[in-house]
Amino acid sequence: MKRPIFLLSLISLLFGFLSFSARSSPVLITDQRVLSVPIVEKKEPLIDLREKGGLALGPSPEIPNNTDYTFVRKSVAEKLLQAQKKLPHGLQFKLYEGYRSLSLQKKIFDTFFAKIQKEHPSWNYKQQFLATTHLVSPVINLDGSHNVPPHSTGATIDIYLVDEKGKPVPMGIHPKDWMKDLDDSLSLPHSKKISPQERHYRTIMDRALSSVGFVNLDTEYWHWSFGDRYWAFKKKKDHALYGTVPKKSNSLENPGEKDSPCY
Ligand SMILES: [Zn+2]
Repeated sequence: MKRPIFLLSLISLLFGFLSFSARSSPVLITDQRVLSVPIVEKKEPLIDLREKGGLALGPSPEIPNNTDYTFVRKSVAEKLLQAQKKLPHGLQFKLYEGYRSLSLQKKIFDTFFAKIQKEHPSWNYKQQFLATTHLVSPVINLDGSHNVPPHSTGATIDIYLVDEKGKPVPMGIHPKDWMKDLDDSLSLPHSKKISPQERHYRTIMDRALSSVGFVNLDTEYWHWSFGDRYWAFKKKKDHALYGTVPKKSNSLENPGEKDSPCY
């Protein structure tokens, strides 16, 4: 009779070890397994959450005149509103960023890359590049190939919780401060540096978004997606639903132009 108990203990130990290993080695956006997921583009239109209503928005994060950040795919908008209904009374989501054009993505990557280079001058190019990819996706991969940055698909959102007055609740680090988290220890969803109260709010957000099908990036508690490559990899799908959304011209450099991401 002792043998099955011993076996059960061994299996439970093994599962514990495996889940610890999975947690200790986060899957990056630039992981080759993620980059190799095929995309079968659904050409689903984007919705402007400013027009749809029901969610707290902004202010626009990286560039004050970025007029695109409230755009997300139709399914993403619907799921986000479904998830919000699952939040406890007095809490709501605030969208930090949805769609991001490739030109803005490149600017953000270059800025953070320069910061990492300054911080770690002894590292070689590859080490600096990979450290940058812990928190921001490149437009061009290390091997020179073109990437599909998650925010360029309109299927990815950066999001956090606010109270009924619109004030952010404590979650460890605000998404706007991500560049200060150079070793990404606070941004990790299961960061060991956050307080029990901060962990509590992260858990609330996690439950609501996971329950409607979103997937969390292993390195940023605020970054969630539905239908991009990372989602497909984590959900073990054979393809992703959404690739980069084209723009007719680059309105971020010319904010006066009426040009939205669209199909
Ligand atoms: Zn993000």
